[in-house]
Amino acid sequence: MLLFGKRIKFKFITLPDSMIDFLTHFQKIKCIGCGNEEKLSLVCLLCGEKLCDSKVCIPKDNNPKKEPSYLYHSNRCGNGNTAYITTEYGDIFFCLS
Ligand SMILES: [Zn+2]
Ligand SMILES: [Zn+2]
Repeated sequence: MLLFGKRIKFKFITLPDSMIDFLTHFQKIKCIGCGNEEKLSLVCLLCGEKLCDSKVCIPKDNNPKKEPSYLYHSNRCGNGNTAYITTEYGDIFFCLS
């Protein structure tokens, strides 16, 4: 993928075949930032972890900059470049450094 002149390679996880299976699977998984089972969530397409789709969810451990979960995770999982899918509409967006 070529984004803003930078070539970035992503290796995505395999998702369930249907949206129902996707929702059923990820509904039960807790946010890795706060531990809650939020309905409006993001799933990292690089590792399959789930996190809140909210600026209010801020991981406490090892997070001196108080980054929200999606940014915190992106910096650790994908070196600042991550793709997320929303559990509400299945939208995909990229978090790029
Ligand atoms: Zn959370
Ligand atoms: Zn990840």
